[in-house]
Amino acid sequence: MKYTAADVERMTKVVSRDLNGIVDLPRWTLGEFCQVCGHPGVSGTLCNACSDHESIRAVSGGMADRVVPLTYAWWGTQIWNDIYNYKKPDEEVARDGRIRLMKLGWWGTIVHGRCIESLAPGMDLTMVTVPSTKGRTGVHPIERIARLFPDTWPRTTARPSKAVGRAYDPIAFILDDPASVENKHTIVFDDTWATGARAQSLATTVRVAGAAYVTVLVLANHLKPSVWPPLADFRQKHPSLGWSVDQCPVRDVTCLAALT
Ligand SMILES: [Zn+2]
Ligand SMILES: [Zn+2]
Repeated sequence: MKYTAADVERMTKVVSRDLNGIVDLPRWTLGEFCQVCGHPGVSGTLCNACSDHESIRAVSGGMADRVVPLTYAWWGTQIWNDIYNYKKPDEEVARDGRIRLMKLGWWGTIVHGRCIESLAPGMDLTMVTVPSTKGRTGVHPIERIARLFPDTWPRTTARPSKAVGRAYDPIAFILDDPASVENKHTIVFDDTWATGARAQSLATTVRVAGAAYVTVLVLANHLKPSVWPPLADFRQKHPSLGWSVDQCPVRDVTCLAALT
């Protein structure tokens, strides 16, 4: 969408108020983070999932250059529940979470849109949403979020090539117009990152089609300590990493440029 300066100012205030205490932004410079996806509690440079992906990167045709999660979704928190509920067909169950996630997506791409663009300076840009693999009629809830993103980010579309599983699969998706990503900075957008398999599968597709730089943008990085115990230690040490509207999801700095 297109926003006036007054829209941005007003919305920034709303988002600042409504997401405070809810968003938990990765602080990459703290250490102990996976250098690809920002997964915390990692002793080396990569989490297990990204390390698996890394070992097949060379033969896969490439993956994302950068992953930008807008928040952590710790198991049991508001954002975790929102991610779980926002796609539910029952509007009563889905609505509040969807609105919070719309605010989160708006903040990441409007307040810090230029920060995302600056990952590949001067390069033409296009965006593609990871398609839902479940049959569904009407506008998918993730599209309702993506519609809020800058109107200067042209869209292209992808679809599953077959029944898509949970594992990384470089031929899981097909671009409807492969030429649309050629030589572009392509933003692959998804709601959640658990292992990153789905987003990286599509990242490979756009790479193979000739994208020059690939950013995976996700609303939330799913964190479930019961699946991986070092997360619990990390959570204890850093109960919240904190958040403010000007804290940059891309550069891990207080981003004054975003608000000017
Ligand atoms: Zn990782
Ligand atoms: Zn920023």
